[in-house]
Amino acid sequence: MTSDDPTIINQEPATPVRVRRGTPQTFYDLTLDELTEKLGESGHPAYRARQLYHWAYQQLAPDYDTMTVLPKALRDDLANELPLTQLEPVQEIQTDDGETLKLLFRTHDGNHIETVLMFYPDRVTVCVSCQIGCAVGCSFCATGMMGLTRNLSTGEMVGQVVAAARRTQELDRQLTNIVMMGMGEPFQNYDSTMRMARILNDPEGMKFGARRITVSTSGLVPFIDRLAADPLQVKLAISLHAPTDQQRDTLVPLNRRWNVQELISACRRYVDTTGRRISFEYCLIRDVNDSEKTARELARLLKGLLCHVNIIPLNPTPAEPSYERPTEDQIKRFADIVDDSGIPTSVRYSRGVDIAAACGQLRIEHEGGTEPATT
Ligand code: SAH
Ligand code: SF4
Repeated sequence: MTSDDPTIINQEPATPVRVRRGTPQTFYDLTLDELTEKLGESGHPAYRARQLYHWAYQQLAPDYDTMTVLPKALRDDLANELPLTQLEPVQEIQTDDGETLKLLFRTHDGNHIETVLMFYPDRVTVCVSCQIGCAVGCSFCATGMMGLTRNLSTGEMVGQVVAAARRTQELDRQLTNIVMMGMGEPFQNYDSTMRMARILNDPEGMKFGARRITVSTSGLVPFIDRLAADPLQVKLAISLHAPTDQQRDTLVPLNRRWNVQELISACRRYVDTTGRRISFEYCLIRDVNDSEKTARELARLLKGLLCHVNIIPLNPTPAEPSYERPTEDQIKRFADIVDDSGIPTSVRYSRGVDIAAACGQLRIEHEGGTEPATT
């Protein structure tokens, strides 16, 4: 990205950058077509690429050696040229009586990636990171306070899902949903994020239904339009957090680039084009965006839009120590006003608060930075 890129809000990373330019390409970076082409250049038939996809994404093979039906020479070549690199696990923490599992991985250049697995009775969701840190700098977010170190590669994102699927299988469950709600802003790493979705959606691979993949954004308007035009029908979540510019400017700095009206207009275009419902995420903060007046403004703003509102009571972080979670009564009152106005609304508590599983907190703890928040 260049320095005049309008999507970059906070150019200076808050933490020292430890990046080796370019993440080495791995098997998990390639779409099936690209793999077929690559193998074809060395004279291998197309069915070999499909076999490799089956082994990697359906059998979740951890290395080429286990793919015993494939010729040894091919496996050796691939191990050298296109390694099936697994993310290196550093730490795993369980919480919520084992219903939340936080995985921390080390990258090739010594950074850390957080991935969270959430087990529900009817589904298992993995929360995937798309960047190390984030440039948007929302005032309540632990990841935002780190600044951006670098984008994750497609392979590093696919690798998180593969590791999560394997871990889920070990626990006799099956991974059913992917949410891009870990560290980072997916629309500042759009191409790699959509490539990840395409690879996981491939019928020869993991066959992950596009509608089981949710991309969450803080509001980069041009990419909402790009997503609307994309044939892959992934779901969209918008981190709205406030119905007025005055409030949203302080919570999501990106709002000064694309304001609330521009954002909601893009959402209306998205729904008109795709017919798909949008989820609005609303982090509820005491005395900041939780008044009854604000609830009525939110309801008015979203009137007539095919959507659902998820109220997420703030998970306090060191990013802004003065922010507090509202009381249960305040949370309920706010949600009821929006819901009663005809906009379907739920209250969702962050999982894994006691192990600092919210956005970015464990990585900060691990790298010796600010202490994680507790509630
Ligand atoms: N960058 C993207 C996706 C990652 S954040 C985005 O902002 O949408 C995923 C969600 O967690 C967002 O809705 C974000 O606003 C929310 N979030 C971040 N920090 C939080 C906190 N401290 N308490 C509650 N929700 C938080
Ligand atoms: Fe970045 Fe999302 Fe955190 Fe905002 S909430 S700083 S966009 S990760």
